[in-house]
Formats: sequence, structure tokens, C-alpha cells
Amino acid sequence: MQAEVLAIGTELLLGQTVDTNSAWIGERLAELGVTLRRKTVVADRPEDVRAALDAVLPDTRWVLITGGLGPTKDDLTKNVLNEYFGGKLVFRPEIYAHIEALFARMGRVPGPLNRGQAELPDVCEPLPNAKGTAPGMLFSRGEVRFASMPGVPYEMKHLMEAHVLPRIKAESDAHIEHRFFMVQGIPESELAARIADWESSLADGLSLAYLPSPGVVKLRLTARTRDPREAAALLEPASSGLRGVLGRDIFAEDWKTLEEVVGERLVAAGQSLAVAESCTGGAISALVTRVPGSSRYLLGGVVAYANEVKVRMLGVNEADLLMHGAVSEPVVRAMARGVRKRFGSDWGLASSGVAGPDGGTPEKPVGTVWLAVSGPGVEWAARFQMGDHRERTVRKSVLEVLNRLRGFLPQEPAKD
Ligand code: AMP
Ligand code: MG
Repeated sequence: MQAEVLAIGTELLLGQTVDTNSAWIGERLAELGVTLRRKTVVADRPEDVRAALDAVLPDTRWVLITGGLGPTKDDLTKNVLNEYFGGKLVFRPEIYAHIEALFARMGRVPGPLNRGQAELPDVCEPLPNAKGTAPGMLFSRGEVRFASMPGVPYEMKHLMEAHVLPRIKAESDAHIEHRFFMVQGIPESELAARIADWESSLADGLSLAYLPSPGVVKLRLTARTRDPREAAALLEPASSGLRGVLGRDIFAEDWKTLEEVVGERLVAAGQSLAVAESCTGGAISALVTRVPGSSRYLLGGVVAYANEVKVRMLGVNEADLLMHGAVSEPVVRAMARGVRKRFGSDWGLASSGVAGPDGGTPEKPVGTVWLAVSGPGVEWAARFQMGDHRERTVRKSVLEVLNRLRGFLPQEPAKD
């Protein structure tokens, strides 16, 4: 099946707003095996919107329209679509009741402009919008469906997930199924080399995509078949093959994050964690606490930027600081041990590095990071070169040290 996106909004052309809606829609359609043939961006101008509607490709079955549904004058998508499909605007009491209820939650009452949002073309099927005041609208012309949705990304996503994607899925002839494998700390090229043999022996109907972000590569294995049984028959053996090649380098399958996996394992082991952060400046704790329920294992942390704090709060040896510098093995080890002792936790993590852009030396250039883990019967420390991009260095350091901790925690029974 073939689809198109039509993004409406002058701000998108001016570069004031980035058209993230199209990208998100493209991803969702790919998951369903639907081909996105084209995305068009037009200004809030009736003639441009009409021209874009006229130009829909002959094989397109779904046109996904976003933007221009707000209550203000510049939002004219509804009127243009109403005229284009030959309808007339009718007041819908049930939609107005929903708008009133949304306002009531904020202790307000709707104004006249909001009343207008409850008027919809009589030729469309309204798509209720639980997240906002502007309902979506579904129009049909022959076999082609036009779904008009608000530009606000979370409202658009809600309408797509609640109303549009289920219909597209029901009409689509392909069965698409994905498996995700998450790998940390291995550059994409190295990973590709390691799995090259496995990848080239993939059966017909299977394909692999690399989805890299700083520090993490997601591998997406996709089966495109006629039904779920066929998909499972392809995915099962290929998945165990990949597990055989990468082993524990896969930190999670499906959409789990590293911090969730670490949290689950700490809970399962009944163990706790404390962190001593220099170059990561609190980013380890920030990531760990993104997981709801992290209070069950994270006791706390120290942002130990100054040497004095490393000594006073964490028991780092002054002589080590003088002799080796703050970015050094003895110091980062002492930080991990020290924070563990200070907080009485099972595990201590520590970071110390030169995030840059300044502060590099020939022996310790920008991007030099020491990381350490201290725990029951375990002490680990290693030096990394994380590159010269400050934010990425922090992000990679956080993921690296959490992944090391994961490696030391008791693992779940292996899947075969
Ligand atoms: P609208 O529905 O046109 O009133 O848009 C509401 C809000 O969503 C505005 O802040 C827009 O900048 C934003 N928006 C509109 N279209 C898009 C898009 N394609 N991608 C991301 N944001 C958008
Ligand atoms: Mg707009």
C-alpha cells in the first residue's frame, strides 16, 4: 500500500518549526510495511493546499495531513478541506462538550474561537481528539482516504495511534514484524563487521536496519510476510543466530533502555547503587532516575567536580590527585569505592574525564574519560577516548559505565 504526507504550516517552510510529524509518520508507516511515496510541505495558503490535494499520486490510498487546525485565523485547513470535498460546516454538540470538558479541567470556559472548532464538515468522519480541542477529520474520495490531524506533535501522534494506524493496518496486505536488539559501546562499523556473516545469511523476507544514536546502536530485524506464523518461523532462528554472535553485548531486546535493564537487574538482585560523578556532572543519576521506581535501588550520588570534594566527600587520596591528576585510574577507583562506602550501597559508579572543549593535554586529550565500578567482589576501571564533542562524551560515558554495571549484575536466564 502507498501513502503520502501533507504537512501544512508556513512556519515549517520558514524553518521556525522542524517538520518532525512527517518523520514520525514515516517511521510508523514503515513498521506497517506501507510505502511512504512522498511528503509535501505547503504554507497556510488555500491555493497551495488545494494544489497539493490535486497532485496526490494515482496509487496513493492514504493521505496523512497535519497542521492548520488551530482555532486562529491562520489555521485554514478545515475550511479548505470542507470546500474541496464539497461539504458544509455543522456544529457538533458532542465535540463542543468535549472542548468544554478540556477547558473545565483548567478552570476555564471556551471562547467563541473554540466554539468554531466544534463545527465540522458534514462530509467527514470526525476523529475524536482526547488530547486537544481540534478533532481530526477523515474524508474519502473513491478509494483514497484523507486524514486531517492537528500539527501539535503529541495530538497528531494520538490521532494516528487511536484512529488512523489501526485502519491502515487493517487495509494493508503485508504482515510486518520487528525485533529490536540493543547494543552499547560498539561502533556501528565494528558491529557490522562482527555480524556480517550472520547478516548475509538472512533468509528472504528478512531485513536488517542499523539505528545508531550516540553510544547505542539499535538493530532492527524485520520480517515481511503474509501472516504472523510465517514471520515467527523466520524471526526465531535469525534472532537466536544473532544472540549467538553478540551474546551479552546485546543489553536488551525490544524497546527497553539500558537504564531500565540495569534497574530491573538491581531490583531482582535486591541491590543498591550510588554514584560519584565528575565529568558526567549528574548525568548518570539523571538517567538512572528517569526510570519510575528507581528509588528502590538508587541511594544517591555526589557531583564531585572540585578536587577538594573528591577528597572530603569520597575519601580520595590527596597524594593520588597530586601525582596522577583527577582524571586518572587511582582517583576514579577511589571515587567508586568511596561513594559506595559513604552511601552504604552495594555498587558504586564513578566518572572522571576531560569533557572539553578546553582542558586537554597531550597525555590526556579532550575526550579522555576514566570510569569505574566498585561492588561485591568486583572492581573495574578503564580509560576511554570519547571524542571531542562535550555532550556526546557525557552521554557515552554514562551509557558505558551503566553497561559495565549491567555486565557485573546477575543476569537473567539466557534465551535460546
Ligand atoms: P497547527 O495545527 O498548525 O495550529 O500547529 C500547532 C503547533 O504544531 C504549532 O506549534 C506548529 O508549529 C506545530 N506543528 C505544525 N506542524 C508540524 C509538523 N509538521 N511537525 C512538527 N510540529 C508541527
Ligand atoms: Mg499552523
